[in-house]
Amino acid sequence: MTFDQIIGHDRQKEFLRRTLAHNRLAHAYLFEGPQGVGKRLTALALARTVFCAEATGCGDCIPCRKIDHNNHPDLHILEPDGKQIKIEQIRNLQKTLAFKPVESTRRICLIDQADKMNPAAANSLLKTLEEPSAETLILLISARPEALLTTVLSRCQRLPFARLPQSCIESTLIEQRGYDQKEAHIIAALADGSFQMALDRDPTIYLERRIEILKQVTALSAGSILPLMELAKELSTEKETIPQTLELLQAFYRDLLLYRHNRPLESLINIDLQEKIRRIAAREDNGSILNKLDALNECQRNHERNVNPQLNLEVLLLRLAA
Ligand SMILES: [Zn+2]
Repeated sequence: MTFDQIIGHDRQKEFLRRTLAHNRLAHAYLFEGPQGVGKRLTALALARTVFCAEATGCGDCIPCRKIDHNNHPDLHILEPDGKQIKIEQIRNLQKTLAFKPVESTRRICLIDQADKMNPAAANSLLKTLEEPSAETLILLISARPEALLTTVLSRCQRLPFARLPQSCIESTLIEQRGYDQKEAHIIAALADGSFQMALDRDPTIYLERRIEILKQVTALSAGSILPLMELAKELSTEKETIPQTLELLQAFYRDLLLYRHNRPLESLINIDLQEKIRRIAAREDNGSILNKLDALNECQRNHERNVNPQLNLEVLLLRLAA
């Protein structure tokens, strides 16, 4: 991955390119910002440019290829081991820092989800940050910088990353993933500025199955309980897709609210269901929509607490059908 291949973040990429070209890299950076927007990819692109035989991050030379295959001996990547980054991981890293870099004149330590360092690990890393060496570049990555020790923060140059614009995710999905305009709009609108989240959305659920689920749910009526029970049973059979079903329903009821408040049509997520949204928005009022969104939130919380899925969905559907 080169800087050019990373979506968005032009200012951050330009800053790193320029700093690198003038050989003015700091000893430690913190790439901070929302999950899945490209912080780690940017760190890897920086590593490639630092180690590249052409100094461009060409992608063809041996160092570039080693980085892409995650086997460059001077690039050390630390990630949580289970839920935390532990002191042993930092100590092991520090042991390698006692030696000269193996193939390059420098080395890079990339600590992903740095906020997961437990206090002992963070304090141990602090020693390394306090004794900077020209050979070592430390890159911390975090979506929760407020969880890092202030002493660690103060030793790093902070580089903030923002959410990606929806239009930017949309055009990339069209160009690189073969989505059509409407599909790209729906997936990008659900991605909350994170390209990773867009890629994680399974198109068979979020594009095709979505239409079917919304059709089934909006056809329910509180007076006929049997179809409601059957649908709850059907939706609960694949327990792992329940959060996705809930997300789709949330997006739909949110669309109804936006529509009722005369928001521009392009702010809707279900851009392909405008006729349905118009029809259903006309028979609901704002209060009833808010109640349904509330029911969805409660169902989500119950799901996370392992409440029986079928019961949980039956209660939800009763409230949605009301
Ligand atoms: Zn190269």
